[in-house]
Amino acid sequence: AFSLVWLRNDLRVYDNQALFEACQSGLPVVALFIATPDSWQQHFMAPVKQDFIRRRVVQLQTELAALNIPLVAIEGSHYSAVPELMQQLIKAGAELLYGHTEYELRERARDRKVSDIFAKAGKACFWFDRKAVMPPGSILSKTGGIYQIFTPFKKTWLARLRETGVRCFPKPKALPEIKLQLPEFSVMQQGDGSSAAYAVDELHALEQMRQFCRDKAAFYQAERDFPALAGTSSLSAYLAIGVISAQQCINRLQMEAANDWDKEKSGAAVWLSELVWRDFYHHILMAFPELIKHKAFQKDTDGIVWPNDAALFQAWCQGKTGYPIVDAAMRQLNQTGWMHNRLRMIVASFLVKDLHIDWRWGEQYFMSKLIDGDFAANNGGWQWAASTGTDAAPYFRIFNPVTQSERFDPDGVFIKRMLPELADIPKKQIHWPHPLPMWNEYVKPVVDHSKARLKTLELFHTVKKPQ
Ligand code: FAD
Repeated sequence: AFSLVWLRNDLRVYDNQALFEACQSGLPVVALFIATPDSWQQHFMAPVKQDFIRRRVVQLQTELAALNIPLVAIEGSHYSAVPELMQQLIKAGAELLYGHTEYELRERARDRKVSDIFAKAGKACFWFDRKAVMPPGSILSKTGGIYQIFTPFKKTWLARLRETGVRCFPKPKALPEIKLQLPEFSVMQQGDGSSAAYAVDELHALEQMRQFCRDKAAFYQAERDFPALAGTSSLSAYLAIGVISAQQCINRLQMEAANDWDKEKSGAAVWLSELVWRDFYHHILMAFPELIKHKAFQKDTDGIVWPNDAALFQAWCQGKTGYPIVDAAMRQLNQTGWMHNRLRMIVASFLVKDLHIDWRWGEQYFMSKLIDGDFAANNGGWQWAASTGTDAAPYFRIFNPVTQSERFDPDGVFIKRMLPELADIPKKQIHWPHPLPMWNEYVKPVVDHSKARLKTLELFHTVKKPQ
């Protein structure tokens, strides 16, 4: 008999409660990972993220082997294949199942089925809620309601943090060596190597996080909005698949930033705020499952009939809109699988409010390219930018892509890095090079921002009263 730890978005050895508890069970421990490319495809998971997961699982096999925990990595196809695999593992001796709760609908349905299978076989499952720092449903208003606005959510969240702190679980001690006879499963395939720019070693990710907390968090508030600077942590890919946990980030931040983490507007406090946003969107997703079905949070905005011009959408995807900051950002996404947060806001606003394309098209395109693709954060970010979500920017507040560019990439350093065809354009014109003679080398603007802005107001007026 053995305890089974089913790993999903928690691909780590440190601060892994399911793994830690399984190691306390007194039974030998077997870890399990099931690759499900058909389900991933159904969720539009980017190939670069799929590769990152596969590479990480291979590395995790070595890390767990050092603890005498075999990691069985199976090539499945779809979530629907999971129940049968679990039956086989129960037959092979799986006595107890350990895992972490997931928040998306299909994942929850899959896990319920697995719990039923274990229960029918008279075996127990233990699910731990660790994806968010404060479990969904645990941060409620005084009247017991779900917060739908970030600021009061954050206030209560921070009060809870001060009260309880966050707990991290140590790496389990090595178990005695075991020899188990397991059925022959189809072995997980290798990825395509497209995520090679990201190291998959857990200690590397932890070190990057520690360095950020020690050396950079203090400057976060000042630098985070400038895509030419490496002012943010670049930890999102690791957080998305759980190579590190948000709990570890907070623990380390509190250690390195003494009292600063709780001092409003300090770099550390602003960075912590981003991790609270991460929790906020997880909580919202659990409370409003219709979001998973791509419904707008502000229901009236689903009445807008978006023109959805396919050629404009293609121009946006390819970074050929004639707006340098937008094009540079889209090329960053297409080339690296990551995009700076300020740019995510700019290009999302541009797609919806300049090109008049349904935010869901952009949401899906982002998922299909991002190494850090996460349903809750991505949906939350898109609905925020589209003025359809919680805390959404009011629809009449519309980003001007050129002034955004002037403010956040003042010398055009980022633009020139991504758009070498604009390398010779002087700083002053880099944000809008079209009047210059060399504009010919660059795409003409696909829309006129001031006209597009008026059209957006019209579209929103069809469902909202003018303010
Ligand atoms: P840092 O600035 O160092 O922040 C630290 C961590 O906090 C991030 O790694 C991330 O886990 C979390 N975080 C930061 N900002 C947010 C936020 N606004 N919402 C939720 N969590 C946040 N983030 C994703 O992880 N996955 C996504 O699919 C995703 N899609 C987005 C789509 C849009 C349209 C927008 C506007 C934002 C999106 N974000 C998403 C949030 C944010 O842009 C990224 O988390 C951030 O750019 C990652 O870089 P970093 O690790 O250097 O972040």
